[in-house]
Amino acid sequence: MSTTIQQTLVLLKPDALQRDLLGEIVSRFERKGMKIVAMKCIRLDERMLEEHYAHLSDKPFFGTLKQFMMQTPVVGMVLEGYEAVAEVRKLVGSTNPREADAGTIRADLSMNVPSNLIHASDSLETAQVEIKRFFKDDELFDYEKITDRYHFGEGI
Ligand code: UDP
Ligand code: MG
Repeated sequence: MSTTIQQTLVLLKPDALQRDLLGEIVSRFERKGMKIVAMKCIRLDERMLEEHYAHLSDKPFFGTLKQFMMQTPVVGMVLEGYEAVAEVRKLVGSTNPREADAGTIRADLSMNVPSNLIHASDSLETAQVEIKRFFKDDELFDYEKITDRYHFGEGI
């Protein structure tokens, strides 16, 4: 099977910060073996959210979602790894935390929307756009991690 190294965007939402779950969530990605190539606090504004959630602009919950996302800063991360886009979505779980598979971040740690703790890019194309939306090129770090050596080869 061919595998590619990808980068994907994650936002830890205001409920993750309020509920002191930032460390727990970051830790799950670290333990999985994802490489953190960027990380910072971001204060989202209405313009950014209208772009980021453009696909939801006609939904009745759009206003609530924007208010929720502006309550506190969010923590933005760029994660890198084999098939990172799909792998991160798998760890995150489905949008509705009560329908998400047990063992996922949303299922284990949350109950409702919009407060489902985390955003993750849903495709490689989206990831590329979303990384550029929130990070400048010089905020992404290329470095060798010792564990890269255990992940070499095709990664199956
Ligand atoms: N959301 C909501 N109500 C809904 C569906 C979505 O409040 O009925 C919020 C929720 O926080 C979700 C975000 O809008 O994570 C983006 O929705 P999307 O469908 O893109 O889901 P995701 O990609 O986050 O799983
Ligand atoms: Mg989405």
